[in-house]
Amino acid sequence: MFELWIALKDIPAEGREFHFTDQSLWTGPMKEYGLQVRPGKAFEARMFITPQDEGFLVAGGFSGSVLVPCDRCAEEIEIPVAGEFESFEEPCAKDDELLGECRIRRAKNVLDLDASGYLWEQFMLALPVSPLCAEECKGLCPKCGVNRNQETCACAEDKGDPRLAVLRNLKLS
Ligand SMILES: [Zn+2]
Ligand SMILES: [Zn+2]
Repeated sequence: MFELWIALKDIPAEGREFHFTDQSLWTGPMKEYGLQVRPGKAFEARMFITPQDEGFLVAGGFSGSVLVPCDRCAEEIEIPVAGEFESFEEPCAKDDELLGECRIRRAKNVLDLDASGYLWEQFMLALPVSPLCAEECKGLCPKCGVNRNQETCACAEDKGDPRLAVLRNLKLS
C-alpha cells in the first residue's frame, strides 16, 4: 500500500505547509479496499502542520472528483469530493504502533505523521454514502431492470408496492 510519512522533527515552530498531488494517495487505497469508485478529476491536498506543546495542529483541505455508480440507476456519475480539516494530533502512546485514531508514529522518539492515512480518512468522510445522478432519479425497474430514466416499461403501471399495501391495510389499535 502507498504510504506517505511526514518527518515532524523538521517542522519549524511557526509551522510548514505541504502540498500533495501524488494520485496514488487516493488511487492506492481505492484499489486496496475495492471501492466502487474510479478516479475523476485529479486530487490535490494541502496540509499545514504546526508544532504544539503535546502534539501537532494539522489543518488543510483537499479536492478532486470521482466516478461512481448512481445509487438508484447504476449509471456512472462524476461527483466532486472535497473537504476541510483541522485537528490536534498526539503521538501514539507506544513505540512503532499506530493505535486506533492515532496518526503520529513514534519510533525511538522520532515522530512521523501518517499523511496518507490522514488524507484517506478525510476522503472517506467526504464521500457521499448514496450518490444520485439526480435527486429525481427514477432508478431501475425492480421487475425487468430497465433504467426508468431512459425508458418506460410495461410493468410501470402496477398496483403499487405490495409492501406499501400491507402498510395501507394496517389498522392502528
Ligand atoms: Zn440515477
Ligand atoms: Zn419494468
